Amino acid sequence: MPPLRVALLGSTGSIGVQTLEVCAEDPHRVEVVALAAGTDLAGVLSQAERHGVPHVAVAREPSTPVQPPAGMSLTFGDEAILELIDRSAPDLIINAIVGGAGLPASRRALELGIPLALANKESIVIAGELLTGLARKTGTPLIPIDSEHSALLQCLRAGSRGEVRKLVLTASGGPFRGRDRGALAEVTPEEALRHPTWSMGSRISIDSATLMNKGLEVIEAHHLFEVDVDRIEVVVHPQSVVHSMVEFQDGSWLAHLGPADMKIPIRYALGHPARWEGPPSNFSLAGIGRLDFEEPDHETFPSLQFAYEACRRGGTLPAVFNAADEVAVEAFLAGRISLPRIFEVVERALREHEREPATDWTRLLEIDRETRERVASWTS
Ligand code: NDP
Repeated sequence: MPPLRVALLGSTGSIGVQTLEVCAEDPHRVEVVALAAGTDLAGVLSQAERHGVPHVAVAREPSTPVQPPAGMSLTFGDEAILELIDRSAPDLIINAIVGGAGLPASRRALELGIPLALANKESIVIAGELLTGLARKTGTPLIPIDSEHSALLQCLRAGSRGEVRKLVLTASGGPFRGRDRGALAEVTPEEALRHPTWSMGSRISIDSATLMNKGLEVIEAHHLFEVDVDRIEVVVHPQSVVHSMVEFQDGSWLAHLGPADMKIPIRYALGHPARWEGPPSNFSLAGIGRLDFEEPDHETFPSLQFAYEACRRGGTLPAVFNAADEVAVEAFLAGRISLPRIFEVVERALREHEREPATDWTRLLEIDRETRERVASWTS
């Protein structure tokens, strides 16, 4: 079989780097044909040289002209990332761009009917109905990379969608599990970036500390698996060994267990529906000893309630939820606001927004931009 030709967007980030490592495990399985990044030109060029990738695009144009190595195409700008998809004509697109900036690439992949392995949960939160509608229309596979959704996808192979009673997403609880809201006011970005079980990019690390990430994941699961949001539950599980669970209508529960290693869901998305062999693991349940589960602390972390409400009411509210959080996280990382202020900002953005149906791409993008501007004015 010829290798799978892959375009990797967001290659310089945490998921991007791990994806390249998975691709390098067996060059007969995968050929990386295109790479895209946001700003890290030196990083993406060095990846392209190391992995022999012919097509590269970077969102931010450098201030001085750059000559790419012979045989490599190098282009700049947001549009260049979309053109990269057209030009490289991959068999699979891995979207590991962070934030709302990943949406246009998800859309382009599904419009072109190119299977999409999606780490960029934000695109499905902003435009879930439009993207899943496109995937259905063009018959294009949409495979999650998020470990919880990869776990759900695998558990769901055990029964039909009509047999599902509920989905249960696990959450580590983040670095501040057990603290009260008052104590959160003092935490620094450095503390918030120190996740207890996963090593990730900065936005998702802060979102894990606030539980906003779990809120985004509830909305993502609702769209990906077409399950009513009130049949999706979240349970805190500090060991991050059980990655998610499905309860079926006969009362059976299926859980997906394994190490907290993103290369496993990345490998699964690349090989899907087959399972590619990975390196041996010394994962041992006896070594872990016990698995704990507890209810989320909604008092300290109201994020899940915002997400459920945004998802229940639907339309443009999930896009507002994402945009407000994205800008608030930037403000927290820059030291302009405290961690609990993120909750206030997101709540206000949702409360003040007049919901519209999310049926129009242009309008959705306008609302995304307007929300960012509004929230930036409150957090500058
Ligand atoms: P990082 O911050 O580590 O990396 C983000 C990547 O996106 C970088 O390659 C960055 O490029 C690129 N990027 C940023 N803006 C743009 C843009 N405008 N155009 C093109 N590329 C851009 O994030 P993560 O890898 O942690 O996360 C990526 C996505 O995966 C997120 O949606 C996250 O929620 C999801 N995810 C991540 C997990 C993890 O373990 N990290 C787990 C599950 C999901 P540059 O470096 O040049 O700025």
